[in-house]
Amino acid sequence: MKNLKSTLENIRKKNPGENEFIQAVSEVFETISPLLNDEDSWFEQRIPERMAEPERIITFKVTWTNDKNQVQVNRGFRVQMNSALGPYKGGLRFHPSTNLSILKFLAFEQTFKNSLTGLPLGAGKGGADFDPKGKSEAEVMRFCQAWMQEAHKYLGQFTDIPAGDIGVGEREIGYLFGAYKKITNRFEGTLTGKGIDYGGSHLRPEATGYGLIHFAQNMLESINEILDKKVCLVSGAGNVSQFAIEKLLEEGAKVVAFSDSSGFIHDKDGIDEEKLAFLKNLKNVKREGIELYANKFKSAKFYKGKNKSLWEIDADCAFPCATQNEVDKEDVKAMVKNKVMLLAEGANMPLNQEAIDAIQTSKILYGPGKASNAGGVAISGLEMTQNRMGRQWSKLEMEQELRIMMRNIHTHCIDSIRQYELKEGDYLTGANIYGFKKVGKAMIAQGIV
Ligand code: NDP
Repeated sequence: MKNLKSTLENIRKKNPGENEFIQAVSEVFETISPLLNDEDSWFEQRIPERMAEPERIITFKVTWTNDKNQVQVNRGFRVQMNSALGPYKGGLRFHPSTNLSILKFLAFEQTFKNSLTGLPLGAGKGGADFDPKGKSEAEVMRFCQAWMQEAHKYLGQFTDIPAGDIGVGEREIGYLFGAYKKITNRFEGTLTGKGIDYGGSHLRPEATGYGLIHFAQNMLESINEILDKKVCLVSGAGNVSQFAIEKLLEEGAKVVAFSDSSGFIHDKDGIDEEKLAFLKNLKNVKREGIELYANKFKSAKFYKGKNKSLWEIDADCAFPCATQNEVDKEDVKAMVKNKVMLLAEGANMPLNQEAIDAIQTSKILYGPGKASNAGGVAISGLEMTQNRMGRQWSKLEMEQELRIMMRNIHTHCIDSIRQYELKEGDYLTGANIYGFKKVGKAMIAQGIV
């Protein structure tokens, strides 16, 4: 479509060097023409362009002192992307690679993801180029306090509610929440992912990983398959990966691989509960690399670095859960050769555009992250509700809610596929159209603001 092409070109010119952001916007724009063809108002109202322009971007200096009393300077960010459906909502990333392009891509994706949950959630994303690795507890705490010292001005339970992402888990959310409370003198649900004893929700830590596997189950069901006995590959070893592995084990699948930034593990006998407990302790308590897993369990081999790919291992299902652009065209080729039947994204944008093109023309059933990893933000949305009500729902209730919400997200994708007569199993286009339509309509209804 000519209009869409020139809009994308303008966005590209306006955001030079922001490769990840342009990649995310292009991926959506390439799929939404069946919707835009329907009505002129999308272009008259300049919805594609407005959706790709953050409502507000805040960047700020974060100064703090390390344990040697040396002054450290980092850059903090919050991208407030879209508030058509509700207050800004999305995680914080603490990683040295964090920059505006990455956060804008994540915030843009979040717009679609949050609308798919059916909850009243706008979209945002933020963080800092801070590396929690190798820092002491006291250093992490001082950094979180310094980040919040500036960021609190822009946050609030009805304005902007951050959560975790890479490098930000329950520990960091605890320090951020403590700082927010101290500065504002308010105990309110301005962050989600809090500890269960001070306003957190049951199942929030598990929600993204568990939700991913529920979504995959729905996808498999649509082709009369189940997870039981399926051989699975999971990349990453963090929050999303650990709980994806846990749920896969519960469902009778065999997980034979996982990774971290040091390399990957191939465990030919598969991970069991004892091995998973070891992995969780290694990553969450000792905060060490996964090589130690191979030293402990004889059936496992560690592959250092990136010379060989985890995706070359023979398997039925693949779950990239580490970071953006971790899967390329060659990886998809290897999966096609191995007759992988399903790939569902735990991470955000783990497939680069060439990999998406390759998978969309293959027989692999492809679950895009904005649908398949929405379980985390969905339970975060319910954490917000619980905080406003001053209540805490049980784990069982949250488990049921998560299953229902993931099923609903699956249904939203399928409904779009049917309504716009898309290729069967084209979850990517289905999810993009559903999200774009819902957010775009709300924007039109609210006028030119
Ligand atoms: P964690 O920080 O808990 O774990 C990230 C994992 O990925 C770690 O094992 C890390 O290795 C690895 N990793 C990170 N960056 C790289 C890299 N550049 N190369 C190789 N490995 C890398 O993060 P989460 O599990 O929370 O997040 C993982 C993905 O899931 C991200 O894409 C995030 O945006 C997405 N996501 C997370 C949600 C959540 O609720 N947490 C919600 C929805 C999506 P190492 O341990 O060595 O650092």
